[in-house]
Amino acid sequence: MFLNQIKNIYQKLKKFYYKRIKNKRYYRFGKCKMCGACCQNIYVRHNNQIIKTEEEFNDIKNKDDYIFYKYVNVVGSDDFGLIFSCSKFDKEKCLCTVHKKRPPICRNYPSEEIFTFGACLQENCGYRFEPIESFSEIFNKVSKKPVKNFSEFMEN
Ligand code: SF4
Ligand code: SF4
Repeated sequence: MFLNQIKNIYQKLKKFYYKRIKNKRYYRFGKCKMCGACCQNIYVRHNNQIIKTEEEFNDIKNKDDYIFYKYVNVVGSDDFGLIFSCSKFDKEKCLCTVHKKRPPICRNYPSEEIFTFGACLQENCGYRFEPIESFSEIFNKVSKKPVKNFSEFMEN
């Protein structure tokens, strides 16, 4: 009983910290399996837009000396935009050759911002995201008449 109360308080504090202080909508779980998939299939965002053409990318590279832009090369494209692979990835050893000096974008990967431009985690990635607020919690907030038991509501 007492342990449950402690767990409850901990969950509430955690939720408050992530939502209100860190401004997050998802919890991130898991850990990197070091598969290297995310270093070889990269969408690159600039000014909140996915880079879509090589001309655009060359133009950005000429104006912005962000080191990450120097590392990546175009390997394809799809409906979202250009797909890049990082030249600092050693395919044989499956390792980042600049690991200690890797750019912030790599240090923070994966962040929930990937969802905001329609991307998703790589297949078999060791990380997963779960919403901080469940669908029923959000539904109750916007609903004029709060639903006490969401499962029952869905069955009716
Ligand atoms: S795809 Fe996921 S598991 Fe694989 S290297 Fe990237 S972060 Fe790690
Ligand atoms: S710098 Fe390293 S971690 Fe970042 S994309 Fe390149 S190989 Fe991956």
